Amino acid sequence: MDSEYGFVKVPRDINKAIPDIKTPSHQPVADLPESGFTKYLLEYATQELPEQVLNHSLRVYLYSIAIIIDHFPDWDLGNELLLTTCLLHDIGTTTKNMDATKMSFEFYGGLLARDLIIKKLGNLRYAEAACEAIIRHQDIGVTGYITSLGLILQIATILDNVALHTDLIHEETLDAINKQYPRKGWTSCFAQVIDNENTQKPWCHTSALTDKFRTGVLTNYHQYERK
Ligand code: ZN
Repeated sequence: MDSEYGFVKVPRDINKAIPDIKTPSHQPVADLPESGFTKYLLEYATQELPEQVLNHSLRVYLYSIAIIIDHFPDWDLGNELLLTTCLLHDIGTTTKNMDATKMSFEFYGGLLARDLIIKKLGNLRYAEAACEAIIRHQDIGVTGYITSLGLILQIATILDNVALHTDLIHEETLDAINKQYPRKGWTSCFAQVIDNENTQKPWCHTSALTDKFRTGVLTNYHQYERK
């Protein structure tokens, strides 16, 4: 079914996708899927990604699960695909991958993810779903449509990076996820990723987010974790 892969028409505008935001529920931190592919991918991501990026990617997965339960209960998006997409969404930002291409990091990362999934799983729809969502995860805006997987990746990444949409997740859930996978200075690390890419590839898609976004990252003082 296409909807398991997120291939459904969802408004890119979050206010249209969730017209009436209900109070989020306090949820336990979800377990990670346990398939053989997930095990392989966790090892791969642990090897390839710096710890801060790995923790960010896992938080993005766990926020996504909590937000889907409360706000998109009708979605039947596969959890394994969601984790795969979250783990690979910033794979293009590693030094190795930044140096390997002139393309914008999320475009190159999307293609890398597609190739890896086809090679390991042989599932073209799954690979395309992850690739599409990774390519569009910084394509923030209010016009047109996106896949469900693409929308949840946008929501959860900007929640972690600039503290937008914190009203979609219970503060206890946010606290528990951030304790499980600590931030360790994530926002300044991410601001550096933005600066690196804008310097190395001034034509990159990240530049479309403008300085306002970078400032938003650096002035993100949201208290994700309770003291
Ligand atoms: Zn990210």
